[in-house]
Amino acid sequence: MATPAPACPDVLFTAVRSADGRIRDLLVREGRIAAYDPAEPPEGCVTVDAAGALALPAPVDAHIHPDKSTWGGPWLSREPADTLRDLIEGDVRARTAFADPVAERAGALMDRAIARGTRAMRAHVDVAPVHGLSGVHQVRAAADARKDLIDVQIVAFPQLGLLSEPGTAELMEQALSEGADVVGGLDPIGIDGDMDGQLDFVFGLAGRRGAPLDIHLHDGGPAGIRQITEIARRTVAAGMRGRVTIGHAFAVAELEGAELDSLAELLAGAGVCLVTCALGADPVLDPARLTPRGVRLGVGSDGVRDAWTPFGDGDMIARAHMLAYRTDARTDAELAACYEAVAQGGAALLGLPASRLEAGDPADFVLVAADSLPEAVVDRPIPSMVVRAGRVIARAGRLV
Ligand SMILES: [Zn+2]
Repeated sequence: MATPAPACPDVLFTAVRSADGRIRDLLVREGRIAAYDPAEPPEGCVTVDAAGALALPAPVDAHIHPDKSTWGGPWLSREPADTLRDLIEGDVRARTAFADPVAERAGALMDRAIARGTRAMRAHVDVAPVHGLSGVHQVRAAADARKDLIDVQIVAFPQLGLLSEPGTAELMEQALSEGADVVGGLDPIGIDGDMDGQLDFVFGLAGRRGAPLDIHLHDGGPAGIRQITEIARRTVAAGMRGRVTIGHAFAVAELEGAELDSLAELLAGAGVCLVTCALGADPVLDPARLTPRGVRLGVGSDGVRDAWTPFGDGDMIARAHMLAYRTDARTDAELAACYEAVAQGGAALLGLPASRLEAGDPADFVLVAADSLPEAVVDRPIPSMVVRAGRVIARAGRLV
């Protein structure tokens, strides 16, 4: 009786275009990049023909709101809104009327993101008395059902205010025990009107639970700068370098020249990460200006087809394009910097191992029809294949 061949954990991707334009064979072993152009492909290994497609490190969505999304459901008509408060109230009204459960809508959006190459996402999920912890529980369930396809971190996000919405602080604490990984915050001055009060709470909770912190900060101008400066000070004092993120940070995006240099130096020194979503008319953080100054920058979708916005599609290659367009990227270096922020910036922000397509890296990459990274950022191709730990999990925009 013949002995069955042992399972081969090796996969050879043939005709892969690398960043320098060369066409090479790429060997993956046990989920990691093993070698390029191996002299002898291992006997019996699986072969996948990349057909000359360009390999890019898989993108990361560093800021998304799956609980709010209508993805996969009927079209939602948005109400006019003039202020952040109008948007927040419109969001609550819309969500209480949604027929589909959170897990279904969030899961549909995750599937879309996975099929477009996203290897990991940081999901900000509303925690408020009106919603309780149902969003956290259901987004966790949707993520658990896809744990072999995507890494999902959940931020307990006080969308309606933290100190200004009684009952939220207790729920935030509970959320960390029931599926949330990260402590969220929201405009300590603009929403709560109490910078030290909100920061005392979120830094305290993050410290007690050993959790990272990720604060939405729309506040611009001097109030925004004051909060960013205080967050940086507290980050260093709490020994949380690399574990504190400020989302949007419009106040940083508004700065130029020496003012930008000195704030960038402060953020880099404190190890505070920033996230931009390159949204509509909002100020956008420019990777070509910030990353050379040592500031860690990730990129996210923010809301996708929710009560806040009809836009967004969970595609982080398309988001790199939007970031490049909004920051007026023109040179190859500027275009590449936008994708670097999406892929490497996002991975660092989420604490994931980098996937630079070098030997030893996780084999998490996308294959796209483009000759170079700058061309891919401009063309926004749908990945012909999405590869996670060496396994093809999507082809031509569809999960396999
Ligand atoms: Zn957000």
